[in-house]
Amino acid sequence: MIDAYIGLGSNLDQPVQQILQALDELDCVPESWLVRASSLYASAPMGPQDQPDYVNAVAAIRTGLAPLDLLDALQEIEKCHGRIRDRRWGPRTLDLDLLLYGDQIIQDRRLTVPHPGLAQRAFVLKPLEEIAPRLRVPGLDDIAALSAARTDQQVRRIE
Ligand code: ATP
Ligand code: MG
Ligand code: MG
Repeated sequence: MIDAYIGLGSNLDQPVQQILQALDELDCVPESWLVRASSLYASAPMGPQDQPDYVNAVAAIRTGLAPLDLLDALQEIEKCHGRIRDRRWGPRTLDLDLLLYGDQIIQDRRLTVPHPGLAQRAFVLKPLEEIAPRLRVPGLDDIAALSAARTDQQVRRIE
């Protein structure tokens, strides 16, 4: 079994509900269960600014699925939430990104792990640090150091 980390994001159709439902669904992925979920966070959109703010979270799961099978399962959940891919970084009901898969470094046509945006995005680093404060990101640095380097980006924990 592998510990994998999933980044969740939503800014359409009741984002908080989208994220909470997706956390339940992650626990239903075959050969997998939810180990930990972060608080919910609010962040300004990346890319196009003419869209609502995002709700973000990070989940830790334990899984027996191979990385591409896990990606398939995540994309299936996105589809069930009515995800439509339109503009790059445009608004979406649900985004599920595979941030980390154990300590593996993966370079596949469909899958890059660690997720390429991880180190740049406070809305990923903050919730990841919350649930795994001593994590080391393979090929990069400790989560605490990565997170401290992105405190300029506003990310607000939702009570
Ligand atoms: P970003 O990846 O910059 O956060 P996005 O999440 O909006 O942007 P998507 O439209 O969700 O991008 O995904 C585009 C493609 O990225 C997917 O079809 C998938 O094959 C690929 N991909 C590569 N690496 C990953 C990963 N670690 N997690 C999820 N998808 C990935
Ligand atoms: Mg994404
Ligand atoms: Mg994505």
